[in-house]
Amino acid sequence: MSIQTSDPNDVSESIKSLSLIAAHSHITGLGLDGNLQPLESSNGMVGQLKARRAAGVILKMVQNGTIAGRAVLVAGPPSTGKTALAMGLSKSLGSNVPFTAIASSEIFSLEVSKTEALTQAFRKSIGIRIKEETELIEGEVVEIQIDRSITGGHKQGKLTIKTTDMETIYELGNKMIDGLTKEKVLAGDVISIDKASGKITKLGRSFARSRDYDAMGADTKFVQCPEGELQKRKTVVHTVSLHEIDVINSRTQGFLALFTGDTGEIRSEVRDQINTKVAEWKEEGKAEIVPGVLFIDEVHMLDIECFSFINRALEDEFAPIVIMATNRGISKTRGTNYKSPHGLPADLLDRSIIITTGSYSEQEIKTILAIRAQEEEVEVAEDAMDLLTKIGTETSLRYSSNLISTSQQIAIRRSGDSSAKVEVADIKRAYLLFLDSGRSVKFLQENKSQYIDDEGKVEISTGR
Ligand code: ATP
Repeated sequence: MSIQTSDPNDVSESIKSLSLIAAHSHITGLGLDGNLQPLESSNGMVGQLKARRAAGVILKMVQNGTIAGRAVLVAGPPSTGKTALAMGLSKSLGSNVPFTAIASSEIFSLEVSKTEALTQAFRKSIGIRIKEETELIEGEVVEIQIDRSITGGHKQGKLTIKTTDMETIYELGNKMIDGLTKEKVLAGDVISIDKASGKITKLGRSFARSRDYDAMGADTKFVQCPEGELQKRKTVVHTVSLHEIDVINSRTQGFLALFTGDTGEIRSEVRDQINTKVAEWKEEGKAEIVPGVLFIDEVHMLDIECFSFINRALEDEFAPIVIMATNRGISKTRGTNYKSPHGLPADLLDRSIIITTGSYSEQEIKTILAIRAQEEEVEVAEDAMDLLTKIGTETSLRYSSNLISTSQQIAIRRSGDSSAKVEVADIKRAYLLFLDSGRSVKFLQENKSQYIDDEGKVEISTGR
């Protein structure tokens, strides 16, 4: 079977962009210093120092490739930055490490089985760094490797030409080629190598070899860069996800499904063949496996079948690091009658590293809200920001963060100016127009009779 891997740039980018979460657009990393210690406010991340320090350790483990097959559970009350932490980790890992974010409820809403949806999420989070050989452009700068042994009586060394990017060439050039630092070695050039010092000098193309060999002494060897060689091949590396390889090679779906997301169920034989092929590529040095991150939000929404799938999948040779987030305390594991911490079964909990997030101080809430306002390009008056912060401490960070854009609309309507500054009155109006969860609960309790309950009953007031 010949496995297709597609154009990585188009596909990976389009898929990644789907997972962008606007509420976290201000987060550009974990905000750690060189020693992986969290800075109070950096990369859009504020406070939550203990959790960020722990995330820094995980970041290092992912980078060192020592964490695949483990699960991390981020547990904490609502709006305490669990998703923000996962986003920060993903940003710190860079775009070459795959990151997939799903909400557990998605698993049940897709047109595929739960386990297929989870398998796809897992395989989206495994990157395959493929080395591919492509044609070289003549005259392009190349990395050269020189085998110092002299062959036969011709005093000619063997010149192996590999391609790489400019930086690598120059770096190697500095190390290896004294006289040629930052000079291009092109097809047809002749270079001399001093056997004793290893010094290499470029002699140009018109070097009259036969005559000058002897003049330069027995300790010098000459190499002519072969004309044809340079037009050979160069290695290009690109990263695609295992899922992308699956979809492209799935006869029923094909390449376009990557854009529509309508991949359907992928047959297990296709995946088996791809696993075998990728293992072969790895063996031959043509591919490298890059375990990425799978973030599962609201993990308590999964049921026992999903949990046992995750337990098993974590042991697979192609397992990403799984980061789960939950805001539940002791609660029932869905699909069972058992209660457990965070609603997770004991065996999955046992293999998870648990990070906790806690509530924010008033100052931290204020800083986060200021960052959000800046991100949304909304100017907020100082006293209005104080009010927003007070609302944040009394309701939730997410609610007060949402008030930024709603009160901006109110400010624009009030003043007729599209860049109007948000004032206290605008925040107050937005607060009265939109309920936070606490007031919503109160409202429902007071107006219970007008709503349909779980049994589908509603008390209709007849006005009599
Ligand atoms: P839930 O349990 O309700 O899913 P959560 O813990 O995942 O909540 P987030 O969604 O991460 O909370 O946070 C709510 C909002 O506050 C988001 O816009 C997030 O980016 C922002 N936020 C939370 N914590 C931080 C932080 N430490 N630094 C910067 N922004 C943060």
